[in-house]
Amino acid sequence: MENVTKILNGSGIAQDIRMELRAKIADSRTKPGLAVILVGHDPASRMYIDFKKQASQEVGLYLETYEFEEDVKQKTLVKLIDKLNKNRKIHGILVQLPLPEHIEDIDILQRIDPAKDVDGFHPTNVGLLAVGYPALTPATPKGIMRLIASTGVDLRGKDAVVIGASNIVGKPTAQLLLNERATVTIANSLTRDLRVHTRKADVIVVAVGKPNLITADMVKEGVIVIDAGINKVGDRVVGDVDYENVSKLAAFITPVPGGVGPMTVAMLLENTWEAMRHSKGHQE
Ligand code: NAD
Repeated sequence: MENVTKILNGSGIAQDIRMELRAKIADSRTKPGLAVILVGHDPASRMYIDFKKQASQEVGLYLETYEFEEDVKQKTLVKLIDKLNKNRKIHGILVQLPLPEHIEDIDILQRIDPAKDVDGFHPTNVGLLAVGYPALTPATPKGIMRLIASTGVDLRGKDAVVIGASNIVGKPTAQLLLNERATVTIANSLTRDLRVHTRKADVIVVAVGKPNLITADMVKEGVIVIDAGINKVGDRVVGDVDYENVSKLAAFITPVPGGVGPMTVAMLLENTWEAMRHSKGHQE
């Protein structure tokens, strides 16, 4: 029997989430407020910020944007974050990464009030996630988990392989899969034989940034494939998976674009809403 692959439509799911949020925000006495900080002129960062701005406006979030030149001093950013931590109109603070080399990003991320850390990168939130307590969860991993949830497949006892071990995508995704009681393997650039791991995986999440890293001979039939990779090839944007061939074997697969990307933005908005609902003195 021929395999029927279902394409996980991140754009559609994200659109539904935005519409739900829009309705909730319209009914809310307080508007969730997000502050976005961008340093330098990296075109990819600029593009992500533009997506976030556009989506924030669409759902009715209150937005403040702060832009700095590449050579901004660390103490300028620290001062701004201290101010935003106290600002009652702001419930979420996002610093677009990567930051220039002269800035210690861990110092910046740790300066954000964990209750306003809508990216979920503060060590307090990372720790809460690790021990399985409610926390602000990084947007891309949260979006990946929503996409997997949309398949209806129960993760308990499944073999999941996360390829890429960054603090932003790979590690928190592995933690979330673990919290769902999957058996999790995390691969990195030094993994000896990736195929040994991917061949037995029921779920593969890839977040590396290398086109065609995952090919059809590396996966088993019926696998769920979530591709977070974003790569520019000529004038096309592709993921890390050989989509054309892997999709013939997978039960579920995300396209690139239109898979994980839009979910990331929707989860950021949702995190800002949640941060507002849990903020001190918040009333319905
Ligand atoms: P990163 O560069 O911080 O981490 C990459 C990871 O991949 C590292 O752990 C590295 O060891 C590992 N790796 C490199 N080569 C490998 C190989 N051959 N086999 C196994 N592992 C290997 O990257 P990141 O910030 O996690 O981003 C990864 C990708 O995801 C990029 O393409 C990025 O653009 C994309 N991304 C997408 C979204 C989204 O919303 N869709 C969000 C964040 C990142």
